[in-house]
Amino acid sequence: MPSLTIEQILRHAYQRIDKTDAHLLLQHILVVNHAFLLTHSDQILTLEQTNHFLHWVLQRSEGVPIAYLIGQREFYDSVFKVSDAVLIPRPETELLVDLALNLTPTNRACRILDLGTGSGAIAITVAKHRALSQVIAVDVSVDAISIADWNAKNLRISNVRFVISNWFSELSNEKFDLIITNPPYIAENDPHLQQGDLRFEPKLALSADHSGMNCMSHIIQTAPQHLEKDGWLLLEHGYDQADKCKILLENGNFTNICSYPDLAGIMRVSGGQFSVSS
Ligand code: GLN
Repeated sequence: MPSLTIEQILRHAYQRIDKTDAHLLLQHILVVNHAFLLTHSDQILTLEQTNHFLHWVLQRSEGVPIAYLIGQREFYDSVFKVSDAVLIPRPETELLVDLALNLTPTNRACRILDLGTGSGAIAITVAKHRALSQVIAVDVSVDAISIADWNAKNLRISNVRFVISNWFSELSNEKFDLIITNPPYIAENDPHLQQGDLRFEPKLALSADHSGMNCMSHIIQTAPQHLEKDGWLLLEHGYDQADKCKILLENGNFTNICSYPDLAGIMRVSGGQFSVSS
């Protein structure tokens, strides 16, 4: 393999993958910013850097998500480690975090539960911004919990605890002021699962039976046993699931039921308050 400059190897990459993706991958390998690539186009790469980059270009050309290649993704105001054991945090999920923060006072110790935490992005971000609160985050995947735990330690967030649990299964009688979740909600036959990043993400985190409503319906039915009186439940859902979610919340005796749009104007989160004394 002849020695290649930044400019030469980028030209090779542009024929195979998106230009912005090529820059991002090379920046990550060289630990430099975009301006560096432009101003050091004559710099010669080491053999190791060259091989690493060519391998990533090949994987990216086969569709592997950028976040899985570089092993991280920004969410809200932090960077989270990710692997193919967890869903890649999405910008629309920041709405769930904002709503959770609105419901959680800064001057009181609230108890918050995050169901299906994955990388821990939601739980850790809420814990970071509500230092007096205690967050419990569960996931059925051991690999996801180990990544979430790593992220909390890396970001020095200590008011979050991770538990391996199939939804509420390991929570015995614990009660919370707020339960939040971004559960799997895509219908199993939805063609989107065969497109883009979704092809590489864990099915367990993406799709559910009954037109994607299975997990959501279990969570809404079981949440009242784990909510303090007047506690809130907030769920992220698909673009066409707000009405179904609201009906489930009504059937579960929730009040103040509401849906909220994401930045694209799509109803993305629904929730309600559980005011019946249990
Ligand atoms: N919002 C994601 C998507 O449609 C899916 C996340 C999920 O299933 N919870 O790509």
